[in-house]
Amino acid sequence: SKYESRLCDSCPLVFYTSVLTQRRKDYLEDSKYFMDVALLAAKRSKDPNTQVGACIVNQENKIVGIGHNRMPNGCDDKLTWDRDRTKDNKHLYVCHAELNAIMNTNGADVKGCSMYVTLFPCNECAKLIIQGGMKEVIYLSDKSTKMKYIASRKMLKKANIETTLRYMSTIFLCCLCNGPLFNCLATILRFVEIATNIQFEHLSKIFNLK
Ligand SMILES: [Zn+2]
Repeated sequence: SKYESRLCDSCPLVFYTSVLTQRRKDYLEDSKYFMDVALLAAKRSKDPNTQVGACIVNQENKIVGIGHNRMPNGCDDKLTWDRDRTKDNKHLYVCHAELNAIMNTNGADVKGCSMYVTLFPCNECAKLIIQGGMKEVIYLSDKSTKMKYIASRKMLKKANIETTLRYMSTIFLCCLCNGPLFNCLATILRFVEIATNIQFEHLSKIFNLK
């Protein structure tokens, strides 16, 4: 390691000045930074149930687009966030984070780019990622076993797009769903199961989990 050998005449804290000339060890590494940007974007979401953020990074490690799940332009606050598919519901209207990130690139090409997204892409977003020529998907959580996610995985695999679960050093992962522990309902439900004797499968149905 490189220490600054110059001593400060007026200041007794020689060691302190030496430390500051070294490269920081707790700097934010690139992939964590890009996922943090996606997580920050997710905070802009008005969806009461699911907040997703996406960040597109090109091969020069520059951010070219950021997005979160939101209603189409001009439709904000005019459409329902209800998720019940048997009536008028958000799924008919909402634009996913990946779509918005791709549309927010100000004309930059997404070919060869990496998609950082907080939730594994659905089948519709997988199509956009593939057709845009993106090379990889880095995701933070993947809790759904719904058909559209199975289809998404299938398409991304056949299109040779790498998918990587991003482990964050500061986040503990759930042993059940492999998602971040802090927002994992599964973990809480296991404790509820133990405390109440109500079966996990039953609880997970109530909470619409998996
Ligand atoms: Zn999607």
